Amino acid sequence: MILNTDRSNIALGGMSMFSYSLTNLPRCAVCKKSDHHVRYLISGGEINICSECITKFNQKIQERRLVRIRRKLMEDLQKPTSSDNIH
Ligand SMILES: [Zn+2]
Repeated sequence: MILNTDRSNIALGGMSMFSYSLTNLPRCAVCKKSDHHVRYLISGGEINICSECITKFNQKIQERRLVRIRRKLMEDLQKPTSSDNIH
């Protein structure tokens, strides 16, 4: 029991230190969340980006890539192929 109260005191001390250095925490440049609120933060030198924003960006990139592939396929389908010319 004594050990437990000691531990909570240490935790509280940690909390006060945490709130003190809150402004200096590295934050995501996109959503402004600190590394305490995201799974992980990737540092790109002067700016950081969180895992959540990277996932969102990846989805956007994937969507755009799919649109481009679909458009290319449609163009290819509309083109007369060499087999169409054999008659
Ligand atoms: Zn973010």
